[in-house]
Amino acid sequence: MTDYVAKARELFPYTQKLRREFHRHPELGFQEIRTARRIVEELSQLPGLEVQTGVGVTGVVALLGGDGRGPVVLLRVDMDALPMSEENDVPYVSQNAGVMHACGHDGHVAMGLAAAKMLHAERENLAGTVKFVFQPAEEGDGGAARMVEDGVLENPRPDYALALHLWNEKPLDWYGVAAGPTMAAAETFSITITGKGGHGAAPHTTVDPIVAASHIVTSLQSIVSREIDPIDTGVVSVTSIHGGTTHNIIPPRVEMLGTTRSFEPEVRELILKRVRQIATSVAETFRCQVKVEVADVCPALVNDPEVTARAQKVARRIFPNATIATEYQTMGAEDMAWMMDEIPGTYILIGSANPAKGLDAKHHHPRFDFDEEALVNGAALISAVAADLLRQ
Ligand SMILES: [Zn+2]
Ligand SMILES: [Zn+2]
Repeated sequence: MTDYVAKARELFPYTQKLRREFHRHPELGFQEIRTARRIVEELSQLPGLEVQTGVGVTGVVALLGGDGRGPVVLLRVDMDALPMSEENDVPYVSQNAGVMHACGHDGHVAMGLAAAKMLHAERENLAGTVKFVFQPAEEGDGGAARMVEDGVLENPRPDYALALHLWNEKPLDWYGVAAGPTMAAAETFSITITGKGGHGAAPHTTVDPIVAASHIVTSLQSIVSREIDPIDTGVVSVTSIHGGTTHNIIPPRVEMLGTTRSFEPEVRELILKRVRQIATSVAETFRCQVKVEVADVCPALVNDPEVTARAQKVARRIFPNATIATEYQTMGAEDMAWMMDEIPGTYILIGSANPAKGLDAKHHHPRFDFDEEALVNGAALISAVAADLLRQ
């Protein structure tokens, strides 16, 4: 049996070099032009790979195998960066001001390319097709949904879907391979409260939307604390409030933004219904008008029990001394859910923090960085699981 850990270790200089290059040149969602070009250049070194570009604007898809024998395994990595300034002092610091790979997607692309190299080398021993998917715009702009619209789940239709994320919440040698709902369903909401503006010293001549907004924020807190079964999980966060300009003017309007999270469909429905009802009735109580808009970000990410069990077995085999967490959930959202809603799959977390080296800043922090040893682990695990699924 192929030793993917040894192979990934051999490939480490290649993977690390790529990761650092992508880190130096981060690009925002749907603008991953350079990133996609470099991915295509690397994939074109692997003879026989069928490469398609422009899938979901900047996405790249590559087929390995594909003679119709055996199953089709989709292996997805995301490639976008975040609109923030890097504060790390490293030789590979971002050269693109105001844009940073602060979630680790630079590492994901590098691991995806390393996996392509390793599985390509093994192609004679694999029965089936690997569909490598390099996805744009994971950070809230709907890259996965765009790729699905552009047919990434057809021709050929995948039988299994795999994805991974470097995970700085946990140290190296920790792997999250959990069945069931692992990442939350997410929605965004905006609430616009309209009253009647006027002088701050004559509130009785106004309809004050600030007082109404304050009561709405407070009342929304009761959804999770008083209406959801304590055993279930949900989040309602108001994350932005804007209204008014100065001390002595009551503004005509206040705008609020926020996000909701849940795992169970019933909880999701309850939260969204109650956000609307509470915002509407409280605004009315204070004589204001209200407009509530809700938009889906993605459904909950649910790991298929069978595929996940196989991935757990592979993880235990190739990392006998590691911690394999078979129960793990986070309220973070992941748009891979759009693909895994249709294709049974598993989404694996790769522990990547190393506090002793100061590499433990959280995702989306300006000092985010991870231990590059995790690149070896992630590339090995994702390749070994893909190979296992192709061996059936
Ligand atoms: Zn992120
Ligand atoms: Zn991410």
